[in-house]
Amino acid sequence: MSAEFFCYLCRKFFQNFSIMNIQQIRNDFPILTQKIYGYPLVYLDNAATTQKPQCVLDYIMKFYTEYNSNIHRGVHFLSEKATEIYENARLKVKEFINAKSRTEIVFTKGSTEAINTLAYSFSLKYINPGDELIISEMEHHSDIVPWQLYAQSKGAIIKVLPFDNNGELLLNKLENLITEKTKIVCVTFASNTLGTVNDVEKIIKTAHSHQIPVLVDAAQAIQHVKIDVQKLDCDFLALSGHKIYAETGIGILYGKEKFLEELPPYQGGGDMIKNVSFLKTTYAELPLKFEAGTSNFVGAGSLHTALDYVDKIGLENIAAHEAELLKYATQRVEEIGGITIYGKAKNKVSVLSFNINGAHHYDTGMILDKLGIAVRTGTHCTEPIMQHFGITGTVRASFALYNTFEEVDRLIEGIKRAKKMLVQ
Ligand code: PLP
Repeated sequence: MSAEFFCYLCRKFFQNFSIMNIQQIRNDFPILTQKIYGYPLVYLDNAATTQKPQCVLDYIMKFYTEYNSNIHRGVHFLSEKATEIYENARLKVKEFINAKSRTEIVFTKGSTEAINTLAYSFSLKYINPGDELIISEMEHHSDIVPWQLYAQSKGAIIKVLPFDNNGELLLNKLENLITEKTKIVCVTFASNTLGTVNDVEKIIKTAHSHQIPVLVDAAQAIQHVKIDVQKLDCDFLALSGHKIYAETGIGILYGKEKFLEELPPYQGGGDMIKNVSFLKTTYAELPLKFEAGTSNFVGAGSLHTALDYVDKIGLENIAAHEAELLKYATQRVEEIGGITIYGKAKNKVSVLSFNINGAHHYDTGMILDKLGIAVRTGTHCTEPIMQHFGITGTVRASFALYNTFEEVDRLIEGIKRAKKMLVQ
């Protein structure tokens, strides 16, 4: 029996005994039935955004056809219904991440806005010239630039927690970076480029032993890892709905109540106030203090629907399936030869970054695209990671619950074809 045929039988065995029925799941995602340039779409750009299940699409249509009205400010039926949908979504998120209270759940338009909100308010309240922040070397730009904008402009110094060539943070360096001037530690739960799942529990314990709060960027973890903010004991957490099968334009800033109470609002406007006069304005209770203007109330409901969908399948089943896909894809990419993989941590989410040696990542991505395979190329908003490895970008394939082993095979055939075309 050939090795390839043996692999095929193993995959079939796994699929038959997997709790998830992948074909049934794929039927929930109408976009996946498309052909691109005549080929069935292979969508492997899930770290950028996930596709939406029919239940989320149905909810959006239902909201606009039956409930559409602005929230909080109306006494009429539709407004009350829309408010109920919005606030129930908040309760769903509270349960999903096991926050202590609904007041700790702030709706934002995504992780980026969540981190900007925190960076602005935290810097205004707590940062003085000469203070220090620790940010990991593998952060997305959205966990670097807001701190540069607000904390650095108040005279703070950013210290970097480095990672090794496998893509694992050098946690033994954290203690040495901490001083009495350290005000916050910012770290991603999972890297969107390397796939590394960081030991955030250990980072939080170390920071807390010095009374330093920790922000966890969960944009790439929420869809793969069960997160319990109380168990984790993180002080702040950011996430994006569109990465976990909800609409774009909705996200969450979680913050422990004691911090959110103390922090000043980020934006001013409607909904975030108690009373306004030209002499003095008072702010609304949590969490509305941080939700100025008309929120994305439709998006909030879509997040509720998406989280229900994930709960129905089971995050642990999704993670197990994705882990198998990653293992299979990594092994098959390694077998091709002449390919460098970036990110070889022991604990990874389903992200595979690589380059065909001697080929530009854009060229590889373009060839894969013409074969109907959607991957992302470039820096993935993590230029410090590129600087670490001395490269201009990578090709990134990222897997979600609806991807199949056959799709990995299509990716491998595409990479082989690109290699033949691009490398002499
Ligand atoms: N953090 C990480 C690790 C990400 O991967 C991303 C997006 O890719 C973000 C933050 C920003 O998320 P958004 O663009 O949804 O605000």
